[in-house]
Amino acid sequence: RAKELGGGRVEVFAPHMHADVVRRLELGSDLQRALAEEQFAVEFQPVVELATSRVTGVEALARWFRGSEAVPPEEFIAPAEESGLMVPLGDWVLRKACAEVARWRRDSWDVGLSVNFTARQIAAPTFVEAVAAALDDTGLPPSALTLEVREEVLVEDAGQNVARLSALRDLGVRLAIDDFGTGYASLAYLGQLPVDIIKIDPSFVAGLGSDETLTLLTRTIVRLGRDLGLTVVAEGIERPEQLELLREMECPRGQGYLVARPMAAGPAESLVRTNLKAQELPGRADLPLR
Ligand code: C2E
Ligand code: MG
Ligand code: MG
Ligand code: MG
Repeated sequence: RAKELGGGRVEVFAPHMHADVVRRLELGSDLQRALAEEQFAVEFQPVVELATSRVTGVEALARWFRGSEAVPPEEFIAPAEESGLMVPLGDWVLRKACAEVARWRRDSWDVGLSVNFTARQIAAPTFVEAVAAALDDTGLPPSALTLEVREEVLVEDAGQNVARLSALRDLGVRLAIDDFGTGYASLAYLGQLPVDIIKIDPSFVAGLGSDETLTLLTRTIVRLGRDLGLTVVAEGIERPEQLELLREMECPRGQGYLVARPMAAGPAESLVRTNLKAQELPGRADLPLR
């Protein structure tokens, strides 16, 4: 193949890999600048109690506004993780979200806050202190904060990660397994992990009512969670029939576009302040939540 390209030209062994490395390096330095220039923002997606549609808390989701373009987390979380920037970025998100929610709570009710954490964040030697310091500095009580981690984090390198998460849990912080059902093996020792909440992955919820296996699996996870004394949150509720089935299964909590989309701090604050039922959200009066 090199010959076809003509003599004297250097063949790049795997051009796509090279391009990927370059892209990641560029993204890494872009991210660094973005953090320095405060191009990031935090949005909040409400989580509701399914039986009543009342908000129980909000999940903080990082947003990157690069000029006029909104870069989705899928495109910057993994590169940030690989370039080492996830630790400062995650700390920024945590502090921003804690400060915001602590402020809401001062003259409102005790809304909860969930923040996502990656493997690198938990592996950082400063992890436990950083979370404790963010709580201390913002005045958010530990019991108001839930850390969301994916199953792998509790399985890989489990000893150290579990010990660190347990240390925070001893302070009163809650722990959620995010994207539950997509990882591996944790089912077997779910009862032994220091976990309070499981968040059912949207891939299960997507099949509710249309796919028998996914419906059965969702029902099983809801029951398992209940039997283990865990709070179950169904993620990615988009259609009324999914909501109906989850209510029928007595799944305690849910989150998804049907209920409320992730929103900027301002609208999230007004929603939380009045603890509006989801059907009263502006422009969403047709929602079947009652
Ligand atoms: P996640 O923690 O599972 O967050 C839920 C994701 O599902 C969010 O995507 C949310 O916008 C989206 N979502 C909510 N309801 C629906 C729905 O009804 N349908 C569909 N199709 N999607 C829904 P987002 O904000 O794009 O974030 C994607 C992932 O990126 C998050 O998944 C989380 O793993 C990660 N992420 C986002 N922000 C942060 C952060 O600050 N730190 C860390 N470590 N990870 C983050
Ligand atoms: Mg999450
Ligand atoms: Mg999730
Ligand atoms: Mg996810």
